[in-house]
Amino acid sequence: MTTSHYIAGRWVEGQGSDCISVNDPALGQPFAELMAASVGQVDQAVTAARGALHAWKSTSASERAAYLRGFAEQLGQRREALITLQMRNNGKPRHEAEIDLDDAIATFGYYAELAEQLPSKNRDVPLAAPGFSARTRLEPVGVVGLIVPWNFPLVTSAWKLAPALAAGCTVVLKPSEVTPLIEQAYGQIADALGLPAGVLNIVNGKAETGAALSNHNGLDKLSFTGSNSVGSQVMRSASAQCRPVTLELGGKSAIVVFDDCDVGQAVEWIVAGITWNAGQMCSATSRLLVQDGIAEALLPRLQEALENLRVGNPLTEEVDMGPLTSQAQWLKVAGYFATAREEGLQCLAGGKALDRDGWFVSPTLYADVPKDSRLWTEEIFGPVLCARRFATEEQAIAEANDSRFGLVATVCSADLDRAERVADALEVGHVWINSVQAVFVETSWGGTKGSGIGRELGPWGLSAYQSVKHVTRCLG
Ligand code: NAD
Repeated sequence: MTTSHYIAGRWVEGQGSDCISVNDPALGQPFAELMAASVGQVDQAVTAARGALHAWKSTSASERAAYLRGFAEQLGQRREALITLQMRNNGKPRHEAEIDLDDAIATFGYYAELAEQLPSKNRDVPLAAPGFSARTRLEPVGVVGLIVPWNFPLVTSAWKLAPALAAGCTVVLKPSEVTPLIEQAYGQIADALGLPAGVLNIVNGKAETGAALSNHNGLDKLSFTGSNSVGSQVMRSASAQCRPVTLELGGKSAIVVFDDCDVGQAVEWIVAGITWNAGQMCSATSRLLVQDGIAEALLPRLQEALENLRVGNPLTEEVDMGPLTSQAQWLKVAGYFATAREEGLQCLAGGKALDRDGWFVSPTLYADVPKDSRLWTEEIFGPVLCARRFATEEQAIAEANDSRFGLVATVCSADLDRAERVADALEVGHVWINSVQAVFVETSWGGTKGSGIGRELGPWGLSAYQSVKHVTRCLG
C-alpha cells in the first residue's frame, strides 16, 4: 500500500473507502494500490491551502519564480523514473513519455519567467479625467482546486500548477485514480524544495474525492480537465457557489486534407494525430476530411501505415503505440467497434482488440462514415479514425465545424493562403497548419463550444489564476 496524499506538507495514508489499483495496461495487471483520501482529508487539504495563502501570496514574484525553476530542475533530476512510470502506468511509448516530461519542465520554466514579469504588470492606468490617479494590481484568485485526468498526468497538472503557484495561489491537486503515482513527484519536489506547507496539497481518489473537492465551499476557483459529463457536474457545483471555473473538456477534432498535399506527408500527419498516446487525447484529430482528388491515393496508404504500426508493450518492445491506459477505456473503445459493425461501417484497418494480454486495440480506420454515425459525432478516446470525403473548401469548413466540440483542428494544404483562410473559419481553440499536435507553452490551450471554458498556457493560463484589482485615488 502506498502512502499517497500530501496534505499540509506531510505524507499521509488515505482514510477514504475506495481502494485504488494502479495498473500496468500492457499486462492488464495491478502493480500498486492505495487508499483514496476521505472527504475529511480533502477538507484538511483545503484548510491547509487556505492557511498558507496569505504568506504565499505575500512572497515576492521572484521568490515564487525561484520555486518554479526548482520544480523544473527537480523534474529533470527524476527524469528516468518519471519516464519509466509513465510507460508502465500509461502505456506510453518512451519517446512520448520523454516529450511529456520535457513539456512539464518547459511549463514550470515559462511560468517562472512570467512570475518575474509580474511586478511590471502592476502599473499606473492613464485616466482621461483630471484629478484622479489609478493603478492596477493583479492578485491571486486564492485557493484553487485542480482536478485532472489520466492521459497526460505530468502535463495537465503542470499546466495548472505552474501558473497557479506563479500567480500566488495555493492549491489542492486531485490527480486521476488511473495514474495516481505520477503526480506524487510534485509533492516530493515540494518537499525537496522546502515549499511552505499547505501551498501545494495532493489528494488522490475517485469520483467521491473529486466531488468532495469540487463541492468544497473553501475554494475560490476550480480548474478541471476531463470528460464533459464530469465537467458539467463540476460546473453545477461552481454555479451553486457562484465560483469561477475553468473547464478543459473533450473533443472530436477534424483534420482537413486538401488534394494539393503530398500524400506521404499527409499520411504521417494523419497517423500521428490519431495514434499518439493511442488516440487518448482530447485533441486527437479523429475526423479525417479528405478532398475527392486525393482520397483514392491517400486512403490505401493510410490503411497500410496504420496496419504497419508497431503496437506493443513500451517497457519490453520497440513500439509506435502502446495499449489503452485502462480497462474501462479498452471496453469503451471495443463498444465503438461493436457499434461500427452494427452501423455497417466500412472498416479499412483494425476495428478489433488485439489477441494478447493487456488492453490493446488495433489502429483503426473507417471510410465514408455517415455524418450521423455515433463514431463520427462522439469522442471515442482511442486510435479510431473516421474518414469522409469533401469536394470544396466551403464544404470542408462546414463539415469540420459541424460538431458540438471545438477544441483543435489540423489543415493540410500546399496553398498557404487557403490554409490560413480555412484556419480562420474553423470554430476551435487551436489550429495546426501542416503540422500535427505541436503544443507550445507560449500559445493558448482550450476550446470553444462543448470543449470547455477558458484557456490554459501562455499569459492566458496565468490570467486564469489572477484577479484584476484597480486602486483609484482622488488627487484633490
Ligand atoms: P473524467 O472526467 O472521468 O475524470 C477526470 C477527473 O475528474 C479525474 O481525476 C476523476 O477522478 C475526477 N472525477 C470523476 N468524477 C468526479 C466528480 N463527480 N466530481 C469531481 N471530479 C470527478 O475524465 P478522464 O477519463 O480522466 O479523462 C478523459 C477526458 O478528459 C476526455 O473526455 C478528454 O477529452 C478530456 N481531456 C481534455 C483535455 C483538454 O485539455 N481539453 C485534456 C485531457 C483530457
